[in-house]
Amino acid sequence: MSPRCAVVGGGIIGLSIAWRLTQRGARVRVFDAGDHGAWYVAAGMLAAGNESTWESAALGRLLSASAKLWPDFAEELGVPLPGDGTLVVALTADDLAQAERDWARRRLTPTEVRRLEPALSPRVRAGCHITDDRQVDPRKVVEALRERVDVVPQRIDDLATVDADQVIVAAGTGTAALTGLPVRPVKGELLRLRGEPGLLRHVISGYADGRHVYLVPRADGEVIVGATQEERTDHAVTAGAVLDLLRAAIDLVPALADLEITETQVGHRPSTPDNAPLLGRLDDRTLVAAGHHRNGVLLAPITADLIAELVVTGEADPLLAPFEPGRFA
Ligand SMILES: Cc1cc2nc3c(=O)[nH]c(=O)nc-3n(C[C@H](O)[C@H](O)[C@H](O)COP(=O)(O)OP(=O)(O)OC[C@H]3O[C@@H](n4cnc5c(N)ncnc54)[C@H](O)[C@@H]3O)c2cc1C
Repeated sequence: MSPRCAVVGGGIIGLSIAWRLTQRGARVRVFDAGDHGAWYVAAGMLAAGNESTWESAALGRLLSASAKLWPDFAEELGVPLPGDGTLVVALTADDLAQAERDWARRRLTPTEVRRLEPALSPRVRAGCHITDDRQVDPRKVVEALRERVDVVPQRIDDLATVDADQVIVAAGTGTAALTGLPVRPVKGELLRLRGEPGLLRHVISGYADGRHVYLVPRADGEVIVGATQEERTDHAVTAGAVLDLLRAAIDLVPALADLEITETQVGHRPSTPDNAPLLGRLDDRTLVAAGHHRNGVLLAPITADLIAELVVTGEADPLLAPFEPGRFA
């Protein structure tokens, strides 16, 4: 008899798990509070190739494994997955020193960088091309997933009220209140600009006069400028964050000054004490998949596969071991 599963949280992680469980024959309902989760704000960089995102070797392995799953995941969902890689660039000597710490690859000269990305400022001193990174629009992914699973618009305050054989808690920052696990919100501010398509060919991760910014161009002319990272819980878009993001963005790509600002946004990354996700069983009935911090979009396919396997077969893949949810107890 296929298990009756409930997924609490219909963000990118919960929906991906529900979809894979449904494909494996489980009967699944997703309960979602209807708040915009971090997925709504996320830039959608799939940046497993950028060593700076690796906080541990085990997390690095998980990120790489998930990056490999993305082409098939996106194709099954019918969402585009552009992939000309990330150009990491630096303006000043200090920026270069900071950026180079992350560069395990060959450094590109200013001429080589501008040949790849002509819109970059002539002030760019050097760069590094991470060719295997891709990007995806998380809003399109969530929309496609919602068409494939049964979503009930309901906030869950007590897991005991959920009528199911197996309950998977994937409630982002809401996971702490439901489980007592240490998932905290890390505030991120981000801007969306709009202009003619084609200004940028790559995702740019840039260091500009001590500020770090990333620029994610979409095919329709949208450019995402992100993102701040602060231990705060408020939802304010602040003047200082907008100034810092735009100053760094326009220093790196001067033509961005002509684009229209279409959205200013705040999201909260669900983060843990070691900034690695919590993945696994809490008890015979309850599992958790939360705390994906800066990489929840990238980690959605591997999380979905590993958690679906655990629910359906009872087998825990060895990749899960370092992310045991009880590790902070
Ligand atoms: C500014 C910013 C930029 C980012 N950029 C990237 C990026 O480029 N690449 C990347 O990989 N990641 C990025 N992230 C991180 C990524 O957005 C998160 O890791 C990811 O969204 C986590 O997914 P989730 O489904 O666990 O949580 P969320 O996306 O936050 O979704 C949680 C869902 O649970 C629901 N919920 C909460 N509590 C309850 C409850 N009690 N009952 C029912 N439902 C509930 C909410 O309504 C929400 O729909 C970024 C995040 C931010 C803030």
